[in-house]
Amino acid sequence: GTESVPTTDEKQTGKDFTSDQEVRWCPGCGDYAVLKAVQSFLPDLGLRRENIVFVSGIGCSSRFPYYLDTYGMHSIHGRAPTIATGIATAREDLSVWVVTGDGDALSIGGNHLIHTLRRNVNMTILLFNNRIYGLTKGQYSPTSETGKVTKSTPMGSLDHPFNPVSLALGAEASFVARTIDSDRKHLTSVLAAAAAHRGTSLVEIYQNCPIFNDGAFDAIKSPDTKADAIIPLVHGEPVLFGAQLEDGRGAKALVRDEETGGVKVVATADVPAEDILVHDAHNPDPTMAFAISR
Ligand code: SF4
Repeated sequence: GTESVPTTDEKQTGKDFTSDQEVRWCPGCGDYAVLKAVQSFLPDLGLRRENIVFVSGIGCSSRFPYYLDTYGMHSIHGRAPTIATGIATAREDLSVWVVTGDGDALSIGGNHLIHTLRRNVNMTILLFNNRIYGLTKGQYSPTSETGKVTKSTPMGSLDHPFNPVSLALGAEASFVARTIDSDRKHLTSVLAAAAAHRGTSLVEIYQNCPIFNDGAFDAIKSPDTKADAIIPLVHGEPVLFGAQLEDGRGAKALVRDEETGGVKVVATADVPAEDILVHDAHNPDPTMAFAISR
């Protein structure tokens, strides 16, 4: 949430949040689309650039702070949530963002991530998930699927992948969402909901790495399967929703807004469980969108 961050009347555009640094990702990298979406969205916050800070760890996506004309820190591997915790707790007048990837957040920084979620520090974490280590040239990551052949798993990965959404729910994160680099509208609506939430918001962003894991999310990107790729939850999490309601935390769900194509926040009591955009951890197909907040 940005309630304690001073606002500005200055008319801003995406350009105001674009730095003079040359963007150095591979051609076609999904990171470009996310960067553009974030730069275009930031003026909507109505905050001064000097009251916004982006902290990253290590990885391709962690170059993000260079390209934004805000304060930023390209920090150490896996530790961005911890550094951001220090910033957020010392400076309530800042809007604090973390940019991380599946390797940075879930392997090297797994411990830091879960404790930040547990503490519910006021920040938004953007977890770029391309299911591969891109910066170090294509090793399997904690979200690579079982059987994935990479340079470090020439005979296929034996490991079961992490589902970042399930992990965040297990840490009782207060806002969890999933979106994708290629759906600008959906991505922007999720950014807005995450930024408005007071506490830690975790936003998983499916991101294509055309060099080392091209097409990992093609099924979702197809216009034909986009809406259908949202798989209603069959087992598991509805119980969690019910539990959250029952213990009085007032759970809310983000559901797809058919009119706008974006998402909207509703009380879980107002929607049937099957309409909540939840990820079915038992289904190997990734889903398009999922979010809850409490
Ligand atoms: Fe993007 Fe992959 Fe290149 Fe990294 S290696 S910049 S994730 S395309």
